[in-house]
Amino acid sequence: MRPPLVYHRDYSAPLPSQHRFPMAKFQLLHDRLLQLDLASAAQLHSPLPAPRRWLELVHQRSYHQAYSRGELSAAEQRRIGLPVSAALVRRSWLAVGGTVLTARLALEHGIACHLAGGTHHAFPAYGSGFCIFNDCAVAARVLLAEARVRRVMVVDLDVHQGDGTAAIFQQEPRVFCFSAHCASNFPLRKQISDLDLPLADGLCDDEYLAAIGNVLPDLLSAVQPDLVLYNAGVDPHRGDLLGRLCLSSTGLLNRDRLVLDACLRRGIAIATVIGGGYDALAPLVERHSLVFRAASEQARLHGL
Ligand SMILES: [Zn+2]
Repeated sequence: MRPPLVYHRDYSAPLPSQHRFPMAKFQLLHDRLLQLDLASAAQLHSPLPAPRRWLELVHQRSYHQAYSRGELSAAEQRRIGLPVSAALVRRSWLAVGGTVLTARLALEHGIACHLAGGTHHAFPAYGSGFCIFNDCAVAARVLLAEARVRRVMVVDLDVHQGDGTAAIFQQEPRVFCFSAHCASNFPLRKQISDLDLPLADGLCDDEYLAAIGNVLPDLLSAVQPDLVLYNAGVDPHRGDLLGRLCLSSTGLLNRDRLVLDACLRRGIAIATVIGGGYDALAPLVERHSLVFRAASEQARLHGL
């Protein structure tokens, strides 16, 4: 089986041309995966916008309404760092729907990959750091509410701490949050995850892979989640403009293989989201394609 993929053509909402968030990456990633034969029409699923009742399992109505109506204060808008537009509002609701769909497909098929998602700095009442709604948090809450899962683990290997997700689930024993991140990086004030693995600046492939490999397999065996939501952010890459770690592309690919293999060999379903990455579009899209390559290989190796 080739892994189910989730994508919507409205993910790349137009931004002012000089904006530093690489919004075009979603569409370019889609095109590149087709080119690399890592995606085909038969694999692709298109989400609907998340209904309000899903979003409100995590986010306060006052926040999502103000955001969606363009009524956030200038300070709230600055904290998000993206200029509001009707297209951006639409893609925000769509991407949450996309991560929920990816999680459902993962439960059905063992593995599924989203060509967006991982907006882990979003809190219930405000957005931050290019993150508006916390898609993985909503997906976990929806599946728990529907009794599709008993326990979920968020494995967040984006270079930035998954602070919003950690805060959302601090009092929720059914969701285990694991975040490995560059200790000196954004956000300055960290939240407390169920397990935080703060990493030193400049960490390279071997040390990084050893750090994750020493922790994750035992953690999966101990927590026994029914589903892992994996934030495969590529900003630990040495070429990343914001990352401060020193992974090569091979290092990232091996990281993704490690995470996918650790889940699949235990029979744990895994849904991947792409998370962050900041560089020129062409190298960035190559980095984001790695998790799809790893997923394709691992699905085959594990006979899915
Ligand atoms: Zn990041």
